[in-house]
Amino acid sequence: MILKMRDIPEGHSEFSLECDLGSVKGDLPPLCGTMHCEGDINRLGADIFVHICYRGMFVLQCSRCLEDYNALISGELEVTVKDAPGRDGKASDDELVDFYFDSALNDEIDLSAALFDEIMIETPIMPLCRESCKGVEIKDKDIIVDFDGAPKRSTPEEKEIDPRWEALKKLKSNT
Ligand SMILES: [Zn+2]
Repeated sequence: MILKMRDIPEGHSEFSLECDLGSVKGDLPPLCGTMHCEGDINRLGADIFVHICYRGMFVLQCSRCLEDYNALISGELEVTVKDAPGRDGKASDDELVDFYFDSALNDEIDLSAALFDEIMIETPIMPLCRESCKGVEIKDKDIIVDFDGAPKRSTPEEKEIDPRWEALKKLKSNT
C-alpha cells in the first residue's frame, strides 16, 4: 500500500484505494484480486497519522479437509509517518514513529509492511472452510474392511485360547 505524500494535505483528509500488497505479497496467502484500503489521515507538518481500514479476499487451506477456500480478512490499524531528512522506510520497534520518509528525496511511502503484520495476526492459525467441516472426505472405496472368512495371517499367540474363556466353555457345556 503506497501513499503519495504530495497528495496529502495539511489537516484532515480521507483516502480510498486498491492495492496489491506490493512488497509483502509473496509472504502472505494468495490474494484474490486487490485489497481495499480506506481511512483518514491527519497531517501536522512533518507528522502524518494514518488510520487504515483494510479488507481483502485470501485463499486459505482448510486445516480439516485440506481444501482451498476464500476467506475475507479485514481489520484496521494506525500508522504514524514522519518526514525526516535522511530517513526512509520502516522505523525500528523502539521508535515512536512507524515509518519515515524524506520529502526532499522521495514522495512515496510504502506502508505494506504495516499491513503485513496486521494481516498475519488476523489470519487464523487453524483455518476452517466452515465451522461444520467434517474433515477429509472418505469414499467407500477407500475403506478396506477385514471381512470374515478372508484369509488372515495367524500367529501362534492368536491360536492360544485365553484360559478365562476355557472356564466359560466348561460352564456352557454343563448346561
Ligand atoms: Zn474444510
